[in-house]
Amino acid sequence: MYFISTRGNNEKITASQAIIKGLSTDKGLYVPSTFKDISDQLENLVDLDYKELAYVILKEFLTDYSEKELKYCIESAYDEKFDTEKIAPISKVGNDYVLELYHGPTCAFKDMALTIMPYLLKTAIEKNNLQEEVVILTATSGDTGKAALEGFSDVDKIKIVVFFPENGVSPIQKLQMKTTKGQNTCVVGINGNFDDAQTGVKNIFSDEEFNKDLKEKGYILSSANSINIGRLTPQVVYYFYSYLQLVKENEIALGDKINFVVPTGNFGNILAGYYAKKMGLPVNKFICASNDNNVLYDFFKTGVYDRNRELKLTTSPSMDILISSNLERLLFEISNRDTNKVNSLIDDLNNKGVYKIDEEMKKNLSSFYGGYSTENVVTETIKEVFDKYKYLLDTHTAVAYSCYEKYVEDTNDNTKTVIVSTASPYKFSKDVLSSISNVDNNLDDFEIINKLSDLTNTKIPAPIKELKDLDIKHNITCEKDELKYEILKFLGK
Ligand SMILES: *Cc1c(COP(=O)(O)O)cnc(C)c1O
Repeated sequence: MYFISTRGNNEKITASQAIIKGLSTDKGLYVPSTFKDISDQLENLVDLDYKELAYVILKEFLTDYSEKELKYCIESAYDEKFDTEKIAPISKVGNDYVLELYHGPTCAFKDMALTIMPYLLKTAIEKNNLQEEVVILTATSGDTGKAALEGFSDVDKIKIVVFFPENGVSPIQKLQMKTTKGQNTCVVGINGNFDDAQTGVKNIFSDEEFNKDLKEKGYILSSANSINIGRLTPQVVYYFYSYLQLVKENEIALGDKINFVVPTGNFGNILAGYYAKKMGLPVNKFICASNDNNVLYDFFKTGVYDRNRELKLTTSPSMDILISSNLERLLFEISNRDTNKVNSLIDDLNNKGVYKIDEEMKKNLSSFYGGYSTENVVTETIKEVFDKYKYLLDTHTAVAYSCYEKYVEDTNDNTKTVIVSTASPYKFSKDVLSSISNVDNNLDDFEIINKLSDLTNTKIPAPIKELKDLDIKHNITCEKDELKYEILKFLGK
């Protein structure tokens, strides 16, 4: 098993090399050359804890890591940084299951991968005898930034620069990033939206002159965005884990198919689920949930991906995205790995902002269903679920929940379903609180958090509670054409 590019340049590299490089030389995304089917092992995995299962899954992707190296990375990641030993617990809400991926240090699902990726990268640097220092460059719509900063803070031989849209993240998200400690961290707000940030970072990665210049100065760039296989592969684990938990608790029988509903932005989370299915996990449907930025909904319905529309700022900012980068990996699979097709679609996307897949590819999308929810529906859903079950959803998870309700109405499918919950409601407290009660406009963010806790009788996660006592460490903003300048300034070059 090795990693190849979605764009077919015949590059074949190891997992550790792919983790260092992030993107392929031809700008394609690295994908595993094969998937190991482990369906016949499932019954032996039911009693494993999260870390043990992570080893079983990750060793099928990260094949050049030794057992010792991989276990070191797993042990370092999934420890007391999480507020539950289960790491990814499931709550039963009505007849459905909510998989809570927000028990890590920054209270969002990005922690599931970004707690382990720094160790995977550090190990990769050592394995490959890299001489240069690695500079992690990340564009974030909010959650990735803090999770990456937290994961990489003070990791030797690595520096991290995070760009976020100055007016496209929640106040708590912003505060989380700006208070990050660590000598090797740099946080910059961009006057633009998430796509500006992401495009700016992508352009830097493909800027040969700039990369050459950095290399002479002793640095190489890498990415912590969800295109890196060091992000993607750890996410495969919790799809298996949640399935096996349901088997263990006798909610389903081994071999039963289940649905997953995934609040989707860059298509990394749901793609990891699809990879789990390719490894033999019994899945009926992946319900891809979008907010008002419903590019993916249109794509699943019509086969046309059209980014030519205004980006809307919603109450689920981590899903405010018009170009879902990881979708390229799905195109690769549904075209039966026809890299000519992938190239031609991506060219269309780059040149015209739109592409259309052929009928054959569309047929291979049958395990996906696209849905989307408007802002009103999100608000109503948070209230409805809280009133009915006393279970508090965050805005992103509410998008997923309401898409699932619509799916059931449309299809009458009664397959057991896991709703993937991607953030703590306290990360988006103002919007969550105003869904269930009136919010006095004079309240500051921390008063809102306290009120939410009092009203719902739920506990404020420690990393959020502590925030107000932390010092602001970062206060830089820049224009969208100034990213390179900010990087050099931070490196002191
Ligand atoms: C990142 C994120 C998403 C979107 O996940 P993708 O992998 O980008 O599709 C959804 N919800 C939250 C809270 C997130 O942080």
